[in-house]
Amino acid sequence: MQVPPLNLQAQFAALRSEIMPAIEAVIESQQLINGAPARELECLLAEYCACAAGVAVSSGSDALLVSLMALGIGPGDEVITTPFTFFATAGCISRLGARPVFADIEADTFNINPAAIASAVTARTKAVIPVHLYGQAAEMDAIMAIASRHKLAIVEDAAQAIGATYRGANVCSIGTVGCLSFYPTKNLGGFGDGGMVLTQNRELAETLAILRDHGQSPTYYYKRIGGNFRMDNINAAALVVKTGHLPAWTARRREVAARYTELLGGCAAVVTPKVRDGNEHIYHQYVIRAQRRDQLHAVCRAEGVGASIFYPLCLHQQECFASLGYRAGDFPVAEKAASEVLALPIFAEITDEQIAHVVSTVKRFYAKT
Ligand SMILES: *Cc1c(COP(=O)(O)O)cnc(C)c1O
Repeated sequence: MQVPPLNLQAQFAALRSEIMPAIEAVIESQQLINGAPARELECLLAEYCACAAGVAVSSGSDALLVSLMALGIGPGDEVITTPFTFFATAGCISRLGARPVFADIEADTFNINPAAIASAVTARTKAVIPVHLYGQAAEMDAIMAIASRHKLAIVEDAAQAIGATYRGANVCSIGTVGCLSFYPTKNLGGFGDGGMVLTQNRELAETLAILRDHGQSPTYYYKRIGGNFRMDNINAAALVVKTGHLPAWTARRREVAARYTELLGGCAAVVTPKVRDGNEHIYHQYVIRAQRRDQLHAVCRAEGVGASIFYPLCLHQQECFASLGYRAGDFPVAEKAASEVLALPIFAEITDEQIAHVVSTVKRFYAKT
C-alpha cells in the first residue's frame, strides 16, 4: 500500500466543478494580478482569523519579509526567532541586513521557549518571530508580555497554523502581524505561491499594501521602497473556493491525528504530539519523536509510507548562517528535536486503511528490532 505525504490530486478532483469556473472567470476577465479575487480572499481570511485586515502577497516568505519592512527592521537591528523552523523565518531577517538571534525551543511543543526569548533580548532587539510549528500555537501570553516589557513587535509565523487558536484567540490576531503561506502543501494551498499578512492595525495594513506594490501611492509616486509582492488573481480565485472547505479539512486532520495518537499509544519507542491546554492544534503536520528515527524513516520509505523530516538541521547550524557564530550544542533542545522528529502522512483525504498501514509499519519496525 502507498501512503503519500499528501494527495492534492484527490483534493482537486473533489473541487474541480467549483474551481474551474472561478479560474475561467479570471481568465475571461484578463484581470490577472492583485484584483478583485485577492480582495475577496483578504476579507475571507481576515474574518476566518479574527483580524481587522489582510494583505494578500506573493508567498509566505514575502509575507514575513514585507512585515519586517513595514516595521522598519534593518541593519543594526536584532530579531529573535527559533532555530527549529523553515528557513524563510530567519532568511527574511538577514535579507534586510538585520541579525537573526536564535532562542531554544520547548521539548514538548517544539515551539520557541519564552524564557529563552527573555534572555536573548538586548538593546538592539526590535522584534520576535514566534512560529506556530506544525499547527500548534506558541506560548503567546508569555511572548506578548516580553514584547510589551521591551516594546518589541511580534510577527507571528503562522504559515503552518491557519485556524489554530491559543486560549480562544486565533493565531495571527495576537501579535503585531501574522503571516500565512498558501504554498500548495500547506493546509490552505493555492495554485502556485501565495501568502498573506493579517493584522488588527488598519494603518499598518495600509503600509503593507503600499509596500506590496513597490511602495507606490498613488500610482507612479513612491512613498517608500517596496517590491513586487503581489498575488495572482487565478491563485486568489482558487484560494477563495478552497477557503470554504478549510473548516471541514481541519476537522478531518484533527480526527486523523486523534486516531494516530490512539493507535500509537502503546508504542513505547514513540512520543506522540503533546497539545498544551488551551491550544487548538490544526495538525499541518503530525510529528512524532521516534527512537532510531533514521532507520524508521528508511523502513517507512520501503513500505510506501511518505514520512518526512521537518527539519533535519537547525538553522543556527546552516552554512549560510555560519557568520552568526553559533555552534552545535548552542540550542540542545532544538538539536535533539532535529534528530528525533518524524512527520507521518496527514491530509483530509487519507483513508482509515492508510492510517492503519502507517501505524502497523511503525509498530512492526519496533517489534522486530
Ligand atoms: C512554508 C513556510 C514559510 C514560507 O512560506 P512560502 O509560501 O513557502 O514562502 C515560512 N515559515 C514557515 C514556518 C513555513 O512552514
